[in-house]
Amino acid sequence: MTINADPQELAKFSELAHRWWDAESEFRPLHQINPLRLDWIDAHARLSGSRVLDIGCGGGILADSMARRGAQVLGIDLASKPLKVAQLHALEAGTPNVEYREVAAEALASEAPGSFDAVTCMEMLEHVPDPSSIVRACSTLVKPGGWVFFSTINRNAKAFLFAIVGAEHLLQLLPKGTHEYARFIRPRELAQWCRNAGLELADTRGMEYNPVTKRYWLSADTSVNYLIACRKPE
Ligand code: SAH
Repeated sequence: MTINADPQELAKFSELAHRWWDAESEFRPLHQINPLRLDWIDAHARLSGSRVLDIGCGGGILADSMARRGAQVLGIDLASKPLKVAQLHALEAGTPNVEYREVAAEALASEAPGSFDAVTCMEMLEHVPDPSSIVRACSTLVKPGGWVFFSTINRNAKAFLFAIVGAEHLLQLLPKGTHEYARFIRPRELAQWCRNAGLELADTRGMEYNPVTKRYWLSADTSVNYLIACRKPE
């Protein structure tokens, strides 16, 4: 099986890995949005006591917080430095019930199908050569009746302006070159991949940012950043 990953993308995240848990670093946006997505995921999937897989977990911001809500979490990624940082953070912070592994989503899907109550895959699909293959793997990995959550960036002129020109160049929230416009994904495309993979759409939310107040919030506006919740039928 050829690996569905872009080595340059993985190298970018490895290079920055040591700053992952610095909430004032390049990873500030992930730290800021984490409480919002965590509450949204928890409201749907009730994390406490459930077995959760976080695909493209990076340094573990979401995985760690889900474990602290009482889930038993496996975080996977294909960049080795972020995984080491995630592991070290869990040790230092004493986070219970979280482990990390370097394995492709597709490989884990053949190894452990139907093993998770919930699968999360946040801010990751837009870095992958074949995102629909990740969506299929998520559907294989989740148990019938379980939840799958995605977040990514829409593809349109406003998303280009806000996510690339605004976030990378004007506000410098993210390093230049973090995102590539052609890899952005329209909600309709993601929804179609989900349906093709046998998942049912349950909820869609937009995520907005106010550069003056420096606050994020969930809304109905999916024109730039958005999240999708799906369910695998019983
Ligand atoms: N999901 C985390 C990190 C987002 S950054 C969060 O939202 O907090 C994107 C992550 O995706 C990086 O850690 C990067 O290494 C990972 N990634 C990119 N391509 C990948 C692939 N093909 N398989 C697994 N992880 C990948």
